[in-house]
Amino acid sequence: MAEFFTDGDLRLLRDKVIGVIGYGNQGSVQARILRENGLNVIVGNIRDEYWERAERDGFKVYEIKEAVERSDVALLLVPDEVAADVYYGEMEDVIKGKKFFILDFASGYNIAYDIIKPPRNTDVIMVAPRMFSWGILERHRQGLGYPVLLGVAQDASGKAWDYARALAKGIGAIGRPGGLALRSSFEEEAFLDLLSEHTHIPILIASMLAYFEIATKRYGASPEAAILELYASGELAEQAKAMAEEGLIEQLKYHSRTSQYGQLTRIQKYYRQIEDIVEEEAEKIWNGGFAREFAEEKLSGMLVLRRLRKIFGEMDLVKAEKKLFEALKKSEKGVAGGA
Ligand code: NDP
Repeated sequence: MAEFFTDGDLRLLRDKVIGVIGYGNQGSVQARILRENGLNVIVGNIRDEYWERAERDGFKVYEIKEAVERSDVALLLVPDEVAADVYYGEMEDVIKGKKFFILDFASGYNIAYDIIKPPRNTDVIMVAPRMFSWGILERHRQGLGYPVLLGVAQDASGKAWDYARALAKGIGAIGRPGGLALRSSFEEEAFLDLLSEHTHIPILIASMLAYFEIATKRYGASPEAAILELYASGELAEQAKAMAEEGLIEQLKYHSRTSQYGQLTRIQKYYRQIEDIVEEEAEKIWNGGFAREFAEEKLSGMLVLRRLRKIFGEMDLVKAEKKLFEALKKSEKGVAGGA
């Protein structure tokens, strides 16, 4: 059973300068909430529109190296695939020169796979939101917290867990209704995150693509009707919401008996096949096979990713989707469409 925390002590961070490195999805939201909580926040970013956005939001913005020099705590909130370049290019030497430093990550990947190895003078902590940045902001505006996973990879001060909890409170995750921090680790976070990305999410999308092809090409269904049924009506999103709030199986009560019977019998049938796929992917994540695969992809300049994006972006489903979305938008504005 996991250990939960619902609060942290913000006083631990009150005397510290917090440098948010990367003012993107997570960085912009976390920086604003930290500041609302009365903490001293500066931003480090490369000079581009995110820099300007941070300035417009009232932050002092510096080149990344200077921001780290001025900070006691850094939140490294750049995409995982560029974090090592930013860390070794701009941060490592500065951190090594300090007596003590706190380095926070919002995901486990770079520490779990030894891609970033911080020096011994550093508390290495993880506060990983289980939510998109807009979801965090939405809940924050309603006075609510949100779930995060906490981890400590290196405890130089002996207080790293307390710092992680304090930071979780600082970014609005805990210390408010609906807030929950689970004691986890960089390895667990990276493993669970990658396993989702390699199993149930792509399996769901692949099954939708097969559904679309077979329903439209072999059985004459209209592409638009198929896409509405698959996801565009929003019913799937409602079902996912009910899963989150009431349970994976319990939510079936909102479906007809025909649907419940069909779903449960087929889940039972597919389970064994899927189990083998999940096992295979889990092993590849656990033994570092995927991290090596992705390191090669990065070296190639994301060749496979670019090619696949092009192929998938040109599929019949994507073209049909555009037409359907246009029709839905028109209908929302009250404009009659069709013949
Ligand atoms: P973003 O894609 O929004 O990028 C964040 C920042 O990184 C931007 O300010 C961007 O600046 C900067 N950046 C990108 N490339 C470089 C580079 N080569 N050198 C310097 N800076 C660069 O990241 P996210 O906020 O999505 O992700 C940040 C962390 O949060 C990751 O660890 C991620 O796993 C984690 N996370 C993200 C979630 C999400 O909602 N997206 C949810 C939970 C965790 P610019 O664009 O100006 O280059």
